[in-house]
Parts: sequence; structure tokens; C-alpha cells
Amino acid sequence: MDVDGLGAALGLSAAVAAAGWRGGHLTGGGALAAVAAGTAVLGLGGWPAGWALVAFFVTSSLWTRWAGGQPVKPRVEPAKGGRRDAAQVLANGAVAAGFAAAFGLGGQAGWAAAGVLGAIATAAADTWAAEIGLARGGQPRLITGGAPVPPGTSGAVSPCGTAAGVAGATAVVAVAAAVAGLTRSAGWLRAGCLVYAAGLGAGVAGMVVDSLLGATLQGGYRCDACGAPTERPVHRCGRRTRLVRGVRWLGNDGVNLLATAAGGGLAAAFYRVALALSGF
Ligand SMILES: [Zn+2]
Repeated sequence: MDVDGLGAALGLSAAVAAAGWRGGHLTGGGALAAVAAGTAVLGLGGWPAGWALVAFFVTSSLWTRWAGGQPVKPRVEPAKGGRRDAAQVLANGAVAAGFAAAFGLGGQAGWAAAGVLGAIATAAADTWAAEIGLARGGQPRLITGGAPVPPGTSGAVSPCGTAAGVAGATAVVAVAAAVAGLTRSAGWLRAGCLVYAAGLGAGVAGMVVDSLLGATLQGGYRCDACGAPTERPVHRCGRRTRLVRGVRWLGNDGVNLLATAAGGGLAAAFYRVALALSGF
């Protein structure tokens, strides 16, 4: 894309990020990170990628707000509050930006388009599953072994949350497909529905990777003063917490970054394999 296109992408991303900041969905740093990720995804990935990212951002913000208005259940204290900061935004958007750069600078290859979608679909699936599953999911169980655990536990899944995640991945992929058709975007239509099928399948797979990492490697803590599980190294009572599972350096943002990398990478791989098998 030319310099004019990148300038337009910067302007549109800044407008969306400013609205997110004013609406209480982003911190100042989160808004700056959203401008950077949005400019790369839209400016280099084109309209279908840009609208898929907007669909993820708007629906995730709305579900988070909706979940905040639901009756409060006893749950594991999350590491961060409702406003998304720069690390959270980049954990969900950096991989999509990387695949968008590969798409825009590398001849608009179908595998790169699939990678953009796989990463964004993973982020959407995770967020929809977490917010809707927490508010409506009933008794969550660990994805490894099925033991019942408190709501909000990393790696916990429920049928309702999983269904919501599949719906979230479907929503962003459907938006990208519709925009590709409407704008006749080069590179997004060449291989028919293959880009979208790969993005959707990888988004669901990326959500599973997120849960598996959350149940195994992600650091989980316990406050011995309050006897409460938490995702914070320091509890809100001020006491330092004790690591009870996973590793200290891998938090929710790191898991999201790894899961979107898995989603993007799997989408690109699904696309290449399907293309080879179909003999294009
Ligand atoms: Zn405590």
C-alpha cells in the first residue's frame, strides 16, 4: 500500500482508538498501541483485515461492558481491570500486524491473509469465551483433566463459553469475507473461501491453545493471608502471593500473544495444505 493509504489507515485507527479511550475501554498507552496495530493491519492488510480488527475491538469492548453489568459471581481476581493497556492490546494485535505486513509487503499472498484472520479470530474467540463464559457459563472445568475450578481460573472452559468463542471467531471471519466481497479486495478473493475457512478453523484452535497454556504454563497465585486464588503477584490486600502453578514470567498477556501466534501460524499452514491438496 502507498503512503496515502498508510496515512488514511493512521487517521482511521486514531479515530477508533480515541473513541475506545473516551469510552473507557482503553488506557492512554492502550490507545497508542491500538493506533500502531490498527495502522499496520489496515494499511498493509487492506479493508477486510481492518474491518475484522474493528469487529474484534468493538464486540470485545461491548461484551466486557455487558459482563461488568451482570450479577457478580465469586471468581478468581483477574490480573488487570476493564480498561485494556498497551500490553493487552499488543498481545491481541501484534501477530495480526505481522501477518498484515507480510501480506502488504509480500505480494498479497493468501497464506498471509489467512494468518491475519487466524490471529484476529483467536483474539475474538478468547475474549468472547472469557466474558460470556464468566457471566453465563455455569461450573467451569479445567481443559486438562476436567476438574471443577472457580470461575475466572486460567485454562477453565465451559460449554457456553466455548460456544461463545466459536461465535466470536465466526463473527470476525464473516465481517472480513463480507468486506472482501464488497470492496473486491485483491489477494482476499483469489482462493475463494479458503482464506476464511482457514481463519475460522485456526481461530477455534487458537482458543484451545490459549486454554491449554492457561491451564499449564501460565502463572497462578494464591494469597496465603486471604486463602484466595488470584492472577496477581501481589494481592489487593497488599500481601505478596505464592506461585502455585505455572511459571512466574508467563501471565495472561504472554499467553494471549502465544495463542494468537498459534492461531495465525495454523491458519497460514491450513491454507497452504488445503491449497496443495486442492491442486490450485
Ligand atoms: Zn490477600
